[in-house]
Amino acid sequence: MKKTEKAAMLLQSFPEIPKADLLECQRLAPHFMLYRSDLSSARCGACGKTLTDYDYDDFLFVLEHKKDIVCPECGRKVTAVCDKYRYSVEVERYAQNFVIFQAGDNGTCYAHCVRIQVNLHKELGEPAQEVARYEETQRYAFADGQCYRFGRDRVNQLIPIYPGSDSFYARTGLSEWKYRTRMTEPTWDQPGMGYFQDKTYTILDDAEPLKGTCLQYAEIDKLDQIPMFEYIKFYMKHPNIEYIIKLGYTDMVRHWFAGYCAGVPGWIDWKQNDVRRMLGMDSYELRETKAREITPEDWHMIRENMPGFTVNECLKYAHLIRSCWGTLEGCAGKSTEDKRRVLKYLHRQNRGTHRQMYLSDYSDYLRECRELHYDLNDPVIRFPRDLAAAHERTAEALRAIQAERAAIAESKRLKQRLRDAKKLDKELRKLKQLRDRLCFRYEDLLIRAPKSAVEIVQEGAALHHCVGGYAERHAKGALHIMFIRTADKPDVPYYTMEISTEGKIVQVRGLRNCNPTAAVKALIAAYTEYLAGIFGKQKVRKTA
Ligand SMILES: [Zn+2]
Repeated sequence: MKKTEKAAMLLQSFPEIPKADLLECQRLAPHFMLYRSDLSSARCGACGKTLTDYDYDDFLFVLEHKKDIVCPECGRKVTAVCDKYRYSVEVERYAQNFVIFQAGDNGTCYAHCVRIQVNLHKELGEPAQEVARYEETQRYAFADGQCYRFGRDRVNQLIPIYPGSDSFYARTGLSEWKYRTRMTEPTWDQPGMGYFQDKTYTILDDAEPLKGTCLQYAEIDKLDQIPMFEYIKFYMKHPNIEYIIKLGYTDMVRHWFAGYCAGVPGWIDWKQNDVRRMLGMDSYELRETKAREITPEDWHMIRENMPGFTVNECLKYAHLIRSCWGTLEGCAGKSTEDKRRVLKYLHRQNRGTHRQMYLSDYSDYLRECRELHYDLNDPVIRFPRDLAAAHERTAEALRAIQAERAAIAESKRLKQRLRDAKKLDKELRKLKQLRDRLCFRYEDLLIRAPKSAVEIVQEGAALHHCVGGYAERHAKGALHIMFIRTADKPDVPYYTMEISTEGKIVQVRGLRNCNPTAAVKALIAAYTEYLAGIFGKQKVRKTA
């Protein structure tokens, strides 16, 4: 029979979703606990029970808008939502994907992919209510070693699915089911909603309905949170993947299908029916790698990257390499003897200490040695007696060099600033009269103008703050930089002040941007009044 003919037959016999299953999906989906703003009652969307203050006073009292809470009636976790907020459209939504399997004749297995969406609705003047709707996005059938997918074209339209039900809607504006030739995952995206695609499913009834079907041994219930139909497609072709899962390598298989790594590796011999031959490992290797938590995939990489090493050597050194495969050759060169020497050395380093050094640490150490121009032909440097200590020393030496380089760059920047500042003095002289008027004395502190733009740059360097960058604006009169000093040391940098052209104090900064002391604060208070006198008068003169 041609595949299209079989597909048409399966479509004819495709069962509908049992109502009980659909209600179960709806029950399992995330729900809200809608409560009245006066805390007189709440309704749990998961169990449908209305909780009144007569029975549940203590519970209602702790409800908080948008906080998760456990329903005292059904024990499900639900999100509390206060109904005083006006929901003229759906403002909150939850969605969860389900797969409902059904057994057919002769091992045929049917699957419905259903998305349950839970929204809040509130019409003007009506109490808010939770509305769940479902959408069957995709159908699959599995028979005679083949996969079939069926989809529908979408036409958006909402009508209630059960007569008389006002809270459970279906999206029924869809065409008839059609056979799709490409076997792909369901698409769950909601047009125009901007939500990310959630490609995980909840399997209804733990794959219990698969009994007696061709997917009976597919171990699907162990492989949640993966694109499931990718996996089933693979399983239909290579059902012996079951043996690998049965050995306990569920995580490894899940990785292959999760979509963020390279997929199913090409080296597994799927023609074999013995798991050892499939994986190219003997019983000893299987047992020993398992004991060391090395997956068959990692073991394959180890054997491939350690040619010339015995099985026992590979087992002994595997943990030192972890997944840094290229690194071994980088650290040791191509020859097996040199690689063996590096691994032996690392193994010895780790004996009797908690501080484990891995190949990646050794690789870092060698790189640091190269940057420091150490002679790696010297065995004392290549294989230091205490690798951890040597690595710490090289890292520290490199940090010191980097700090020195940064200091040189900083001093270059400062010199350039000082050169630039010198050019500003001509402009600065034009503002001398105004700046002299800004000088001020209060108790043991004084405020004075910088003598030159260079002095502003020096101030920034001495106090480690950024005033140096203000020299040009100060010279051009775009702002005023003034120095705060103790009266006995008028030339020693203490605090630096920025004043706007309107006479407002913008900022006062001390060493490394520290805040003003109490005495400086008192000075600032007195100075603020003084500035008001100067700039206030100026304004009066201008408007007069
Ligand atoms: Zn409940």
